[in-house]
Order: sequence, then structure tokens, then C-alpha cells
Amino acid sequence: MGAESSPTETFELVSNDTRLAILRALAEAFRESPIEPFVAYSDLRDRVGVRDKGNFNYHLDRLEDLVTEGSEGYAVTSVGLAVVSAVASGRLDPGWTWGPREVPGACSFCGDALVLRYENGHLLLTCGVDDHALLFPVSPSLLDGHEGDALVERVAVALSQQAERIRRGICPECEGDLTPGVVPEPKPEQDGHFFHGDCRRCGFQHGFPVGAAALSQPAVLAAFDARDVDLRATPFWTLAWCRVGAETVVGEDPLRVRVDARLPDETLAVTLDGDAAVVSTERRDGRK
Ligand SMILES: [Zn+2]
Ligand SMILES: [Zn+2]
Repeated sequence: MGAESSPTETFELVSNDTRLAILRALAEAFRESPIEPFVAYSDLRDRVGVRDKGNFNYHLDRLEDLVTEGSEGYAVTSVGLAVVSAVASGRLDPGWTWGPREVPGACSFCGDALVLRYENGHLLLTCGVDDHALLFPVSPSLLDGHEGDALVERVAVALSQQAERIRRGICPECEGDLTPGVVPEPKPEQDGHFFHGDCRRCGFQHGFPVGAAALSQPAVLAAFDARDVDLRATPFWTLAWCRVGAETVVGEDPLRVRVDARLPDETLAVTLDGDAAVVSTERRDGRK
């Protein structure tokens, strides 16, 4: 972050409908013609539909670093595009709700059928009992307009990528430094552990069942790939070893937690430490 940058100022700039409309019009022009994204002043004013020239000029001037001016008119900058993308993703709309949509798999706690639902800015994977729900940060645009298998695959891919980023210490929200860990379940009535990410930059807290930390392990991916299963597009909650409580504590000090990724003819025993790093991956014949 540069010393002179002011993200709060950027939020303030786009809090106005005319300014956001100007940015959207320029982003649309960029999409139509990335090589020649400039829009002439009069064309831009027509696109935005503001008759009052003084009012339009005032808002155009205020967009400063989000818009660049050239001899052929105006274009959106990369930061301006990032603002348009953030708005388009729906993440900034606290009132957006979606679902429920039935999905494969069963609740880790009670075995009931699961649905996906979006409310209060996050995606819920839930059987209907609040205490059993898993919460994930995703954008409404991940879900909006998608149904059936394609929907489930989109969610599966997004969540397995989140789990991989957490394991590698990258916050899925802000891409800042994150501390991954396997930590005890905070709810006293539920024993067991979960895979956790604590972002030092944005403060976001991410939580997954422990098995999700093993999803992106090359040995695990390869074993599933050899059986024509693309683990990166498989909903983790349908895998028995990625359910809440599927882990086994095999060492207390230092902490060692094992998940058994079962395949039809073998089992991969993946042992993780307290930093959610894989300590060992061991093949076991599943028929014994
Ligand atoms: Zn349940
Ligand atoms: Zn973050």
C-alpha cells in the first residue's frame, strides 16, 4: 500500500450513483475494446445519461485516479476496474440473499440433507440447524444464475481454492498474510479440531473441517486423479474424511492430527501439524 493511497477516499468517491455510472460506462467500453478503451467526452455523457454538464463535469473530475484522460477521451484505470469488479461481485451488498438450494452430502453433525444459502454476506452450508452450519466468504456472483451440478462445481472449486490458499498462508479475502493452523473447536460442546486461518491484514477468520487442509496435497490429488476424480472440483463436504470430526489426534505435544482419505482400494493417511502443514502422507491398503 503506497503512503499516499487512500482506500477510504476511493469508497467515498464511488458512493455516488453518477460517479459509479461513469466508471461502469468506461468499464463497459474497456470490455468492448481493451486496446482502444477511450470514450469521447460527449459519448461518455450520453452513455451515463446526465444532461447537466456542470454536474457531470464535477463528478468526472472527482474520479481522479480511477479514470485517465487521453487525447481521445476518458478510460478507466486498473484501480477503477477493481472498484467496478468489487461492486459487480455483490460482496458489498449486505441485503443480498439467495437459496436455499439442495446439494449432495449430509450434515456432519446430524446426517440430515444439506442446502446452500446466502445471507448476511456469507454462504451457509446447512441442514437447517444454526449450530451445524458452516460459513464461507464467497461473492454473490459465484452463485447468482447458476443451478444444479454446475452450481455445485463452482462452489466446490471456489472453496477448495480457499482451503489451499489458507494452507499456504494467503488470505482468500485480501491476499494478505494469514496464519494457518489446526486448532481445537471453539464451541465447548463440540470436541475435535478444525482447520483455521487468521488474517493479520484484514482480520478475517476462515474455518474448514480439518480434512480440507489435505485437499490440495499433490499426493492426495494424484491418487484421486488416478481414479478419474478431480478433487479440486469435488465438494469437500461429500468426502467422509473432510467432514467435521473425521480427524484423529495422533499426537498432543506437538499436535499431530490425521485424516484418512479413503479411495476404493487404498487409504491415504495424511498427518498434519498445528500449522496445518502436512507432516506425512502414508499409503495403506484399503482392503486390509
Ligand atoms: Zn445438522
Ligand atoms: Zn485478509
